[in-house]
Amino acid sequence: MKTKAKGLTRRKFMKNAAVAGVAVALGAMLKPALKAFSSTGSADYTVNGEWRPTTCQGCTSWCSTQVYVVDGRAIKVRGNPNSKVNGIASCPRVHLGLQQVYDPDRIKVPMKRTNPNKGRNEDPRFVPITWDEALNTIADRIMELRHNNETEKYALFRGRYSYMRDIIYDRMTKIIGSPNNISHSAICAEAEKFGPYYTEGLWDYRQYDILNTRYIILWGADPVAANRQVSYYISRWGETLDRAHVVVVDPRLSVSAAKADEWLPIKPGEDGALASAIAHVILTEGLWNREFVGDFKDGANKFVAGQTVNEADFEEKYTYGLVKWWNIELNDKTPEWAAEKTGLNAAQIKGVAIGYGKAAPQAISWVARGPVMQVRGAYASMATHALNGLVGSVDSVGGTLKANKEYTQSFPDYKDFQDDIAKAGTKHGKIDHRGRKEFPALTKGKSGGGVVTNNAADGILNEDPNEIKVAIGYMNNFPFSCTQGERWYRALSKIPFMVHLTTNASEWTWFADIILPSNHHMFEKWAYVKSFANGYRQVTMNQPVIEPIWDVRTDETEVPWLIAEKLAERGFDNLLRHYKEYRDPETGKSPTNEREFALYALKHATHKLWDPAEYQGGDKFNGWEDFRSTGVWNSDPYPYRKRWGKFGTKTDQFEFYSETLKEVLGAHAEKHKTNIDDILATCNYQARGEKAFVPHYEEPYMYGNPDGLVLVDYKSRLNREGRSANSPWYQELKDHDPGDEAWDDVAKINPVDAAKLGISNGDIIKLISPVGEITCTAKLWEGTRPGTIAKCYGQGHWAYGKVAAKEFGKTPRGGNNNDIIPVEYDRLSGSTVFFGIVRVSVVKV
Ligand code: SF4
Repeated sequence: MKTKAKGLTRRKFMKNAAVAGVAVALGAMLKPALKAFSSTGSADYTVNGEWRPTTCQGCTSWCSTQVYVVDGRAIKVRGNPNSKVNGIASCPRVHLGLQQVYDPDRIKVPMKRTNPNKGRNEDPRFVPITWDEALNTIADRIMELRHNNETEKYALFRGRYSYMRDIIYDRMTKIIGSPNNISHSAICAEAEKFGPYYTEGLWDYRQYDILNTRYIILWGADPVAANRQVSYYISRWGETLDRAHVVVVDPRLSVSAAKADEWLPIKPGEDGALASAIAHVILTEGLWNREFVGDFKDGANKFVAGQTVNEADFEEKYTYGLVKWWNIELNDKTPEWAAEKTGLNAAQIKGVAIGYGKAAPQAISWVARGPVMQVRGAYASMATHALNGLVGSVDSVGGTLKANKEYTQSFPDYKDFQDDIAKAGTKHGKIDHRGRKEFPALTKGKSGGGVVTNNAADGILNEDPNEIKVAIGYMNNFPFSCTQGERWYRALSKIPFMVHLTTNASEWTWFADIILPSNHHMFEKWAYVKSFANGYRQVTMNQPVIEPIWDVRTDETEVPWLIAEKLAERGFDNLLRHYKEYRDPETGKSPTNEREFALYALKHATHKLWDPAEYQGGDKFNGWEDFRSTGVWNSDPYPYRKRWGKFGTKTDQFEFYSETLKEVLGAHAEKHKTNIDDILATCNYQARGEKAFVPHYEEPYMYGNPDGLVLVDYKSRLNREGRSANSPWYQELKDHDPGDEAWDDVAKINPVDAAKLGISNGDIIKLISPVGEITCTAKLWEGTRPGTIAKCYGQGHWAYGKVAAKEFGKTPRGGNNNDIIPVEYDRLSGSTVFFGIVRVSVVKV
């Protein structure tokens, strides 16, 4: 598409977008009428369409999908029947993808900023430019850094991604010469992985064997609504409820809680207390799984409340440190003690513990973000996950499983393409401060192994360890998705040159100097992702199932190639030479343009899945075309209990006393010439001494008015990771979530609290915290625990489009929870804290 660089004000920007949108909508009206359209099966369609395979990344379930395409237009989406993970099932929010790809507010051509001033209240005055002008400008800025030997001042910020990510995120950053590739992972759910890693050596999410289980405890998890294989769990949850007893631990009545056998509306931040009490009861009642854990040598249970046990009396099988755990943490953690902490009933706590223990090993303790993305969440993560060890459900039928093996391969090595400038640049410290004394970020057993995403804003603001002069962001919106986002407004205003690769304008884009329009992951992009559930892993392809309507390029492949070409024109061809190594496995040819590069890179990464000569396992294909048209590769079925005794921890056992954590914390302390207790004090944890190495309870760490209501932040089931707010269906169907209202942003208050505050249903209220305030509508709802206020994340956009905002660029629709959540971290994992962190004052406007 040819564009002319003329002035485009905020109003014109949105007006032009609206005109284009009408054109798209009219196009839709001209399509033939359809019959039997509500069916998800093999419907009798009256039009000549075709189901084309691709992948949805509306959340991190990453479902394999199919899109029904008629005359080049995508009109319906469903699960891919070839998938053994989600099959034909999909979720309610998958359909919003259609309104995303045809969103009239999409960025349609490259644009540049004409207002040199940056700020929340500065209209960027973007004007359209050509791809050539955009890429030349970007290449000039990167070359300037290289000429000045300051490549560490380049940064790449990644939001959602596919597994093509390393091309732009890793390879491009390192060959240019910067250590600053900053991912979003620590605002996602890293703390959720901490417990599994430091007990069973698994830094990953888990799959849950729901079809074979008899008991499930959901800790803040809402599998039929929120995340991680929602499509699969929705499709099988009815059967699960028939077979298993389901308990939901959540201060809010979630969708899953509404259907559960028991709802435990716990006080926010007290999950560790409940977990310790459940473990206490399992041990005192003698309900641990002897096949996995072992037993007392004389067979007599010596776990008696308040008494310690001689370690030599117990013989463990596949676990390590059970008696130490009992002596250090559990022996006094009775249900009565936990009832005081959690606000729950002691008899109910005991009943859940006994029910869970009796179901062993077909019993799942399922941990999600809520209990762990807290200041002391690392230990809640260990405490809740350790229950799976007690009942022997780890790697077991009806239990908690890791991902199956798959056979994708990484991209060619970059090291030979780094010159001396790049090598020197990458040695600098990172802008997010990972690995410093106060940010251990112990991902996968390494000090500084993880990212501290949200702290990058402070690194930029303080120029610590250095200034950031050139930045690229893609599929990210940190000022919106990070807590205390106003820091990001200031940080982004400070970066002299910033590029955003995105489908839609957003709060991040507002601060960009160049906008590059990205294609939509589900309809217009070559890529692949990996996901797992139902005992299988899948590798599923994102494919261009329609021709892009706008002048867009692929963020992770085509754009870096185009930048590499421009850098080569300027005498720095290392990146382009590296990318030319990504050969087509079928022909051996090097790519010659960005489209070939995107395709060859994907074929290279998935080569062992589709080439029969390279076959390693799982589904077998006749070649690339066979794989492409199927859209998904499925692994072999799950090999249960193969990990017992080979967990990859320091002892190779399931560690109730984590020698693995002890070693890693020791190394971090040594690096900073101090001791572990000092590290824990610096990082706001309460444990000292031996307690640091066992799953245990820590008190919540909270900000705000002691008389205020604790904010309970949660995800709407229609949230496509915060990217669906500009979809009219999102707004219209918002009451899909229990207690929510269409076209509104409600904060749900228990009627008991509302009466005390003099607040009625429908009142406009302000939620005020020490770091900000937001305005929304009061909803009186008994599904909120008294003393808390529950509000969905997703509204509050002011720059995401005409539907998402009340007035684009100025006034948000509702309020963004992150504006009132103080920036804090679970420092052992590097995670940003969203939960159990702030009490807010609630006042009527
Ligand atoms: S939104 Fe999530 S659960 Fe729904 S289809 Fe997409 S990836 Fe799957």
